[in-house]
Amino acid sequence: MAQEFPTQARVVIIGGGIIGCSVAYHLTKLGWTDVVLLEQGQLSGGTTWHAAGLVGQLRSHANMTGLIRYSTQLYSELEAETGLATGWKNCGSLAVARTSDRMTVLKRTAASARAQGVAVEVISPREAADLWPVMAMDDLVGAVWLPGDGKANPTDLTQSLAKGGRNHGARIIERVRVTGITVKGGTVRGVETDRGDIAAEIVVNCAGQWARKVGLMCGVTVPLHSAEHMYIVTGKIEGVHPDLPVLRDPDGYIYFKEEVGGLVMGGFEPEAKPWGMNGIPDDFEFALLADDWGQFEILMQNALVRVPQLETTEVRKFYNGPESFTPDNNFILGEAPELRNFYVGAGFNSMGIASAGGAGRALAEWIVNGAPTMDLWPVDIRRFASFNNNPRWLHDRVKETLGLHYAMPWPNRELHTARPFRR
Ligand SMILES: Cc1cc2nc3c(=O)[nH]c(=O)nc-3n(C[C@H](O)[C@H](O)[C@H](O)COP(=O)(O)OP(=O)(O)OC[C@H]3O[C@@H](n4cnc5c(N)ncnc54)[C@H](O)[C@@H]3O)c2cc1C
Repeated sequence: MAQEFPTQARVVIIGGGIIGCSVAYHLTKLGWTDVVLLEQGQLSGGTTWHAAGLVGQLRSHANMTGLIRYSTQLYSELEAETGLATGWKNCGSLAVARTSDRMTVLKRTAASARAQGVAVEVISPREAADLWPVMAMDDLVGAVWLPGDGKANPTDLTQSLAKGGRNHGARIIERVRVTGITVKGGTVRGVETDRGDIAAEIVVNCAGQWARKVGLMCGVTVPLHSAEHMYIVTGKIEGVHPDLPVLRDPDGYIYFKEEVGGLVMGGFEPEAKPWGMNGIPDDFEFALLADDWGQFEILMQNALVRVPQLETTEVRKFYNGPESFTPDNNFILGEAPELRNFYVGAGFNSMGIASAGGAGRALAEWIVNGAPTMDLWPVDIRRFASFNNNPRWLHDRVKETLGLHYAMPWPNRELHTARPFRR
């Protein structure tokens, strides 16, 4: 029998991507079971479904590494709990350095990751090539090896988190669009939807690249902008096997992972291509953008340096999907300073699959405790102000933020795009 549409809930979550489902899962784990999650399409149909599924723990902020360390633990155990596979494979990962400067950065982040309890080894190019025999290694100066890293199937992971939430009482309702936010006296009171209103004590905006628009419904600044983000899937390559680690070659802006005996190859080009300047269509569901080999060229050229066999390998599929990026390449988490009891978990800068476990738990704890339970300042929503929501500024800045993933994270780095903005 179809369940009646709810008219009230303690928590309403907007968005059924991996982040919304993780928040629902973790809230119920903390004993808050009166949770309703609303998804305008189908679960994972926004950005989550076409992610490459890399889960890498090495981050320039120690606490972000800590969050992803928890994700790896959760993803390895979730299937046993929910009975739904997640595609998690603990294949490990390698990051290689082409220059001594890069090696310094890798060693520095490795030391910080080690302090977070992450297993990490500094190794030679020869040892790296033993772990990843299809790569050319002559130009490398060293590498780091993270045996605890892995990869997952983003859609399966989302469904598994949703099932875990449902098992503990969360209601997850697809094909419901939130059209407005109800506010009284500076506090959120609920949501308006195309199926009726729901009164709520807490509302959580996990609407992915639509989160800026949802924020604008109630005067909350969620500064993010979409950019096109691409990878290819190749045919079979000799020497590529299911246990092959993930490989990152940040000096070439690229990464690789095994898929059905071939390679997924994608990356973070230094100058990205913004998308969605006229708004993100509501019905952009399980959808992709047109192939753009011109934009992809810099990645392809570098991939040929690292894996010469690609020269003669067939490309089976080109994936180009939009992802939202923030002005500083860190995601946006926490209670909005403009509106009490309205929380945001969005702008995941192509780290949403890796971060979902840890970020979902951190946001659920923040909601239940009324304050963050750890230092989350790099991602805290309060670091932004309303002027950061300027659409032209966001458009110009997103060209730079995507590439920051693999750019040198020198201390006190200043970004150069979208200036002058304020004098
Ligand atoms: C090509 C590509 C490769 C990637 N590879 C990786 C990777 O290897 N590793 C990694 O960690 N990350 C990767 N990512 C990033 C990752 O996919 C995202 O960070 C993550 O999926 C974001 O999840 P989300 O839940 O925030 O957003 P979404 O999955 O987009 O979910 C948001 C949901 O909100 C719903 N929604 C929006 N507005 C409303 C409304 N008004 N009412 C109801 N519902 C609404 C949408 O329909 C959508 O389903 C990749 C991204 C791309 C594009």
